[in-house]
Amino acid sequence: MSDYPIHSEIQPKVHLIRGSNNARFPEANCLFIDDEILTLVDAGSNIDHVRKTMKDLGHEIRDLDRIVLTHFHIDHKGYAAFIQKESECEVLCHTLAEAGVRSFRGLVDLIGIGDHHFHNDWIEYVEAVVPHVKMSYEVSGTFHDCSPISCGETTLLPIHSPGHSADHTCFGINGNDTIFLVDIDLTNFGPWYGNVTSDVRFFKNSIRRVLDLDPKVGISSHLINPVTEGLRQRLEDYLHVIDVREERLLKLVAQGYNTVSKLVKVPTIYPRIPIDAFYFFEELMVEKHLDILVEDGRVELEGGLIIPKREGGA
Ligand SMILES: [Zn+2]
Repeated sequence: MSDYPIHSEIQPKVHLIRGSNNARFPEANCLFIDDEILTLVDAGSNIDHVRKTMKDLGHEIRDLDRIVLTHFHIDHKGYAAFIQKESECEVLCHTLAEAGVRSFRGLVDLIGIGDHHFHNDWIEYVEAVVPHVKMSYEVSGTFHDCSPISCGETTLLPIHSPGHSADHTCFGINGNDTIFLVDIDLTNFGPWYGNVTSDVRFFKNSIRRVLDLDPKVGISSHLINPVTEGLRQRLEDYLHVIDVREERLLKLVAQGYNTVSKLVKVPTIYPRIPIDAFYFFEELMVEKHLDILVEDGRVELEGGLIIPKREGGA
């Protein structure tokens, strides 16, 4: 167990279940809605934390009615299949998440690592740290952007916020003043868009969409406490990280790091690469930045080389 409270009430009937290890990947926080329809939002925190939270509130896992998944990632779908076996609860996800939730193969396809030379390293990593995500999950239904999900007195409002993944969805809790920001996670790491189905521009727009809703409280999947002070600034700083990365890449290109493989060896996104398989994600994110830099006319590609374009030059 952890040296911080495993769960805390953030609104009447709404409880934050904190992940282990400060909710760092591959752990993530969940929400438990202790209402007429007992609902878990995401299922990626330590299963003992879910069990203990429910027990402290007078329930057991087998009482659970529903799991709502914010997106298909391993640290979010987590123990959903395991819990579903015990409780026969329904599992809801975004339409675009279905394949990635249902099967491990579907998840690998949405990530895009299936044919990559780091595929086997990544599988070894998954089997070592989150073996349960290789189970098959039964999806009972889907939710849609802006269609409220009622839990009784509590209402969850899906805010489709693609970019991190195509299906990524934040949830307003009883309105938009408190938003479960999920993997618009406000960590120092910054935005993560390392799947083939991720999109940097969509991610920026999703952060702007959240800013437009002007929430007062933001709950991250990977910070142990909700952000209650200066949320707007935190979101703006988080958004700015993408531009900082872009500028760093341009600088590296100008210094002669003129291929993707050279750029990946001096990682821009990851402060350090934890295991070799993560070079796959770094590479994909660098490539996404390069696509944008080409579109914006800031670099061009010639025979696999990245050539800087001079401002205003022909
Ligand atoms: Zn994620």
